[in-house]
Amino acid sequence: MSIEELNIGIIGAGPSGLAQIRSFLAEREKGNPIPNIKVFEKQADLGGMWNYTWRTGLGKYGEPIHGSMYKYLWSNGPKECLEFGDYTFMDHFGKPISSYPPREVLFDYIKGRIEQDEVREFITFNTSARWVDFDPYAQKFRVVFDDLVNEETFTEYFDYLVVATGHFSVPNMPYFEGIEDFTGTVMHAHDFRGADPFIGKNILLVGSSYSAEDIGVQCHKHGAKSITMSYRTNPMGLDWPENMKEVPLLSHFEDGVAHFIDGHKEEFDAVIMCTGYQHKFPFLPSELRLMTNNCMYPDNLYKGVIYNDLDRLIYLGMQDQYYTFNMFDVQAWFARDVILGKIELPLKEERDKDIAHWLEKQDAIEDAFDDVDFQTEYIKDLIQYSDYPSLKWDEIGELFKEWLRDKEEDILRYRDKNFRSVITGVKAEPHHTKWLDEENDTMERYLADIKTKKLVKS
Ligand code: FAD
Ligand code: NAP
Repeated sequence: MSIEELNIGIIGAGPSGLAQIRSFLAEREKGNPIPNIKVFEKQADLGGMWNYTWRTGLGKYGEPIHGSMYKYLWSNGPKECLEFGDYTFMDHFGKPISSYPPREVLFDYIKGRIEQDEVREFITFNTSARWVDFDPYAQKFRVVFDDLVNEETFTEYFDYLVVATGHFSVPNMPYFEGIEDFTGTVMHAHDFRGADPFIGKNILLVGSSYSAEDIGVQCHKHGAKSITMSYRTNPMGLDWPENMKEVPLLSHFEDGVAHFIDGHKEEFDAVIMCTGYQHKFPFLPSELRLMTNNCMYPDNLYKGVIYNDLDRLIYLGMQDQYYTFNMFDVQAWFARDVILGKIELPLKEERDKDIAHWLEKQDAIEDAFDDVDFQTEYIKDLIQYSDYPSLKWDEIGELFKEWLRDKEEDILRYRDKNFRSVITGVKAEPHHTKWLDEENDTMERYLADIKTKKLVKS
């Protein structure tokens, strides 16, 4: 079969799915043939998590809308660590911006790279993948979709299927005895849409990872009265402001009062479960479904990308993420070259050994600094197979470590730090307003030159 005759299906038009499209367009720009590509996205726009609107939660057509983003979300890592190898922040904004932009600015950057290529032509929006099966005789995937606007079901056939549906959308919601009688708000971080409802409230966050940290700090910034964070395994151990604290695990509720395993009890207005997410693929049968928790190297994925039981099935972005946009790119470029036959996959036995090697390395991880080293090594391994622009990955790894140290030093002010791009060498410009004082996260305000333009605080 010639390359032009191959049919590639991509489910999801978030950063991972967009990386896959971009990888093929880069090949086309070199004058080489590319397969037929069709992307299906259940939302009305591209961008995945970054496409946050007031509809986030439930879509116009009754479909659950995916994102776990929220108002006032600012990047939690330096933008220099996620910069695309083929489209820099300077390419997009034409001037240096700060290292920790708000959501809308990062969304604009994502769109900027792909809209120059008119990628929307490849994407069918408002269309949800409902079911997939694989015909081993024809070596084709049959995918059933729902056109949400016209309420029509249709079927497509593909030689390769790329699953790019993300894994931070389906809450892991633990049960604590007596919670059903708690009269305040109980929600998961997935449904947190901003700190406004918690102004003046005493809130309990269960969990000790990024969501607990960021939602806690945001609620502090926007005026919650107190924030208590309850850890299961380890506290974050940061130097919290006076109205924030970490306590051992919640054990149960009694008469609406929270009791903890260290024996103390407290009253709260709201409980937010920052207890992570489940990898869920309701459109895949169990034999094609990636089964994993949130970790650095999900089992059964060769090079973190190719489903080892069926090498025509590709998963992007399924790892826990330090690196994001540029890691999805490196994965997409690798997948592209497997599809184009430029990379010959070894036999399953060899692939098993490679996976086992990475799983063993993963077992040796002890802390976040090791996580960073692991993911840097993973990307450096993957990039040698494709022609994705080579970045200074070790330098990006060092930026991540500086970021980890900055958070330890001052969790409320680490976003005021600025870094130098390892691609362009351009140093980020401080944002015109300190992050803690900046209540307006719009792109208009962010890009405004505050020194020359007096803005009226809303
Ligand atoms: P997603 O962004 O989740 O996109 C998946 C897409 O698939 C969505 O558009 C969805 O609608 C679509 N889809 C799902 N199911 C179907 C279906 N059945 N049919 C059709 N379409 C479907 N990363 C950073 O780099 N910096 C940050 O500051 C940052 N903040 C984050 C904050 C939160 C609260 C969360 C949860 C994550 C954050 N991340 C951050 C990590 C985030 O995972 C990545 O930045 C990125 O969005 C992942 O891209 P993705 O394409 O893999 O998945
Ligand atoms: P996560 O990193 O998977 O962490 C899950 C947390 O929940 C862990 O602390 C875990 O504790 C805890 N937990 C799980 N089950 C529990 C239970 N039964 N009881 C008590 N605690 C339990 O998930 P996350 O924090 O939601 O982060 C997900 C992603 O979102 C990350 O990639 C992060 O970068 C992103 N994010 C970004 C921003 C931002 O950019 N501003 C904000 C929020 C989130 P153990 O340690 O005991 O397992």
